[in-house]
Amino acid sequence: MTTPDPDRDNESPPAETGLIDAYGRTINYLRLSLTDRCNFRCVYCMPPEGAPYMPHKELPTYEELLRLCRIMSGLGIYRFKITGGEPLCRKGAVAFIRRLKRVPGVDRVTLTSNGTLLAPYVEELADIGVSGINFSLNSLDPEHYAAVSRTRAGPGPILPVMAAAAKAGITVKINVVPLRNYNDGDLPDLTRFALENGYHLRFIELMPVGLGSTCTGVPPHEICAAIERDFGPLSAVDDVAGNGPADYFRVPGYAGSVGFISAVSNMFCPRCNRMRLTSGGFLKSCLHRDVGVELKPLLRGGASDAAIIAALRKAVGEKPQAHTFGDIAPEKSGQRFLMHGIGG
Ligand code: SAM
Ligand code: SF4
Repeated sequence: MTTPDPDRDNESPPAETGLIDAYGRTINYLRLSLTDRCNFRCVYCMPPEGAPYMPHKELPTYEELLRLCRIMSGLGIYRFKITGGEPLCRKGAVAFIRRLKRVPGVDRVTLTSNGTLLAPYVEELADIGVSGINFSLNSLDPEHYAAVSRTRAGPGPILPVMAAAAKAGITVKINVVPLRNYNDGDLPDLTRFALENGYHLRFIELMPVGLGSTCTGVPPHEICAAIERDFGPLSAVDDVAGNGPADYFRVPGYAGSVGFISAVSNMFCPRCNRMRLTSGGFLKSCLHRDVGVELKPLLRGGASDAAIIAALRKAVGEKPQAHTFGDIAPEKSGQRFLMHGIGG
């Protein structure tokens, strides 16, 4: 009899059931986009005039999504990130999250959100057992915040929502996309805010996907230098719970942390553990490749569980080794490359 390894979590289901790709990576995490709708128009994500949204009837229904998640959890996918668009723009999102959390095998459900619609639901999300919320917060300066999100909104109303989430026991992470000429001067302030509140701050490197290719990011080494000027040397740690690609650092004296998700300058594809379900029901096996499988016709067309499992295994089997962010081909600006439909 073997003794369970206490340092090992349930990342590796038995080989005969789990999803392992052609490069030996275990797939255990799904980013699930509930909607392509959003109340923001972030410069790197949505056109200013809004996007032609998908008609409601074309979104997989909650029943279809729950069935899919049940099948996936049986294959070892046990972490789910609910995303969008703005996930709370879809009616019934919180009730869906409650049902998802109850699916056998589903262990960790988290949410990524701009935070604007969350206030009434924080207690309920904590009660459901949502373990973390990633809040997009690109600046504490109202003008800069409004310029990035292209709304009149300021960051003020979101800050108490973060505090309420933390108080309710939900891990709060703050996602910042550093952008030249928008928020590049605000990063030390955001760092101070996160650290002083015990939040985990993550700098997400701008990815040249969809409208991202029309903006200019800030290289991680420049951000690091700006933070170290104010806070002293950052020390790398590996004790911050997450779903994958962030490299975390701590500043002595603070409970929070600073993370870098640098998809372009520090390609983390060898560690990739995820698939993405777009709001239209396409299972995308790589953010920047047009590969995957249309699951909605199967879910809607009476396919058996076995047929869906076969489609999932095919998509995992064809998962590319790495993204190709260097290759900005025109066809990579189509529907399957719009971040508000993919979910980030
Ligand atoms: N509306 C929610 C939000 O903003 O958190 C969830 C959806 S949004 C598409 C998910 C994440 O993707 C956000 O952190 C957002 O900043 C990030 N994102 C969107 N487009 C991006 C891009 N081109 N490069 C890097 N991150 C991007
Ligand atoms: Fe909306 Fe999030 Fe895209 Fe901003 S990044 S437009 S908040 S989906």
